[in-house]
Amino acid sequence: MSISIKEKFLGCIVGTGVGDALGAPLEGSPPGQLIPDEEGKFSYRGFYPYPPGQYTDDTQMTLAIIRAILKEGKVDGSAIASEFVPLWQKGEIIGAGGSCTEAVFNLISGKVSWEETGTPRGRAGNGTAMRASPIGLWNYDHPDRIIPDATTASIITHKAERSIAGAIAVATTIAYGVKHDTIDEKELIDLLGSAASQVHSGFARAISQLPRWLKIDEGEAVREITHSGEPEIGPWGWGGGITPYVIPTVLICLYYFLRSPHSFLSNVVKVINAGGDTDTIGAIQGAMSGAFNGISAIPEHLVAGLKDSQDIITLTEEFYQLKHKD
Ligand SMILES: [Mg+2]
Repeated sequence: MSISIKEKFLGCIVGTGVGDALGAPLEGSPPGQLIPDEEGKFSYRGFYPYPPGQYTDDTQMTLAIIRAILKEGKVDGSAIASEFVPLWQKGEIIGAGGSCTEAVFNLISGKVSWEETGTPRGRAGNGTAMRASPIGLWNYDHPDRIIPDATTASIITHKAERSIAGAIAVATTIAYGVKHDTIDEKELIDLLGSAASQVHSGFARAISQLPRWLKIDEGEAVREITHSGEPEIGPWGWGGGITPYVIPTVLICLYYFLRSPHSFLSNVVKVINAGGDTDTIGAIQGAMSGAFNGISAIPEHLVAGLKDSQDIITLTEEFYQLKHKD
């Protein structure tokens, strides 16, 4: 039985929050730290000063993009920037990256516009890929809009082509997962490579390694991915895990999603157990696996225990309805 588009929208956005909240207490940890309880269940843990089920900037900025699309009926950079600003002004943002904070402070100062405020090219963080899932949902039936819309939603905080290519790859995977009942590995990798190559050839080259990684031993593949794309920046300081740089972040998520597309929970657990920037890789994996498998694939206790889960579901339903209003 095929999964409805509405279930896929809900799976994507609730999945973002679930992966983020499972990974957040382990941010910066070495690999292998997410373990089940005595009953074999994976449950939320708190992290100071927040209770279990708290999500972070990855989900907060994803929801901000949805609110902006709901207001404008399209992906509008100025509207998205206006949704980002209060998260910082009110002190609500949790665990924000340096590029996002710097860009939003520039916006708050009023000296620069949303088109100019993004941090410069040399800094290729994962702060745009982590929030790209609404772009994939919004354009699942218009893939030609993914590159321009992901670029608009990215440059507000990051001008680096690698970061923009990462957002495009995440949104393309989400759109593909919404549209399809099965994942054709070659077709999706080709699609990702050709989309990324329009923005950054190095990102496309990294994507082209996925078929080989999917064939070799998992431990070896994860080691190679952890060091991929950013030869100048190793995983030191991130517990030997995935750094907040966009290429390893997006590739580890694509690797586990392609390895077993039908397994929401085990994909999220495995990606978080790659260590490092665990909330962001958990969020992106949750979005990819949630968009393909739908909300019913997410364990009920993780949906119910996610902070604001009912509000997130209501907002996503409004987003689904706006997308399908005609
Ligand atoms: Mg975070």
